[in-house]
Amino acid sequence: MRPIVAHLSLAALRHNLAQVKRYAPAAKIISVVKANAYGHGLLNAAQGLSETDAFAVLNPSEAIALREAGYTQPILLLEGVFAPEQLLEVDRYRLDIVVHQVQQIAWLQQAALSAPIRVFLKLDSGMHRLGLSPVEYPQALAALAACANVREIVMMTHFANADIVDGVEQAMTTVEAVMANQPYARSLANSAAVIQQPQTHADWVRPGIMLYGASPIADQHASMLGLKPVMTLQSAIIALQSIQAGESVGYGSLFTADQPTKVGIVACGYADGYPRHAPTGTPIAVNGQLTRTLGRVSMDMLAVDVTDIPDATVGSIVELWGEQVPVDEVAQAAGTIGYELLCAVTARVPFKHYG
Ligand SMILES: *Cc1c(COP(=O)(O)O)cnc(C)c1O
Repeated sequence: MRPIVAHLSLAALRHNLAQVKRYAPAAKIISVVKANAYGHGLLNAAQGLSETDAFAVLNPSEAIALREAGYTQPILLLEGVFAPEQLLEVDRYRLDIVVHQVQQIAWLQQAALSAPIRVFLKLDSGMHRLGLSPVEYPQALAALAACANVREIVMMTHFANADIVDGVEQAMTTVEAVMANQPYARSLANSAAVIQQPQTHADWVRPGIMLYGASPIADQHASMLGLKPVMTLQSAIIALQSIQAGESVGYGSLFTADQPTKVGIVACGYADGYPRHAPTGTPIAVNGQLTRTLGRVSMDMLAVDVTDIPDATVGSIVELWGEQVPVDEVAQAAGTIGYELLCAVTARVPFKHYG
């Protein structure tokens, strides 16, 4: 077996869930576990998040997996149903749905459900992706209120710019104009809004990335926000090279040494989900010591500078990201965000969870 493994800390998940509660003490928490729980494994993550008030996913199949594992909390389908027959599964597994376009209302009106359900009616507050316009919204609300298949309505929106300091002001003006004086609960906040837009917390918050211990805000480190990394992607050195000034490492010879350099070859590449665009200098740790990658990431391997790590040898533990190397710093070096790296860990990497 190659030495690569993704360790998952259930204790960190519990800690981050408690941290959401500290930020938004009055709100109920819908833990977003879409995209295989941001790459952590749906059921692994659910174990650490078992105290949550609700879960949110995209596909009925994910909701069914949670039900079959014994979770009895509300489970929200974040994009609702994609076709009317999926309402049968919604009914059978007692799921909550988002309604974000008018056709979904017609499907709901025509369905034969065994019991009425909870519906989150989504307002487009300026992102122009999903949701009813402020003009359409009141009529949709009235239609749902009159629908025998609807037990409870929650008014919902999703922010385009909650990660920017004043980024929700305009959206909140729209929200207030549409939702004021309605008797229903509200769900507005993603992780960035949970952290820095307290005026959006309302009744149900929908954190995703912060549960996994990465930051939703570019200039704020997860540790500053009181979050702990859940995933540690770890591998080991499988070969050592000593190169002289003028010699290069890897495809394209992108790194050329300017002095004698000791190079560790690590069993992790882009086929494991490590970003191919991570340039020379991307942070990485060997035997607990911070250092840098060298040259181009290949499919199964990457190179690391161990010149100043004298105890580095074949078998030395390498942390690609986790407690010593924040995933957000690797992401920043590679021109992306922590979300994408966590989601991209591939199926050939074994997962182990602990604590
Ligand atoms: C993914 C998602 C979230 C969670 O977003 P984070 O930035 O990961 O906190 C919340 N709400 C909706 C509708 C989403 O699609």
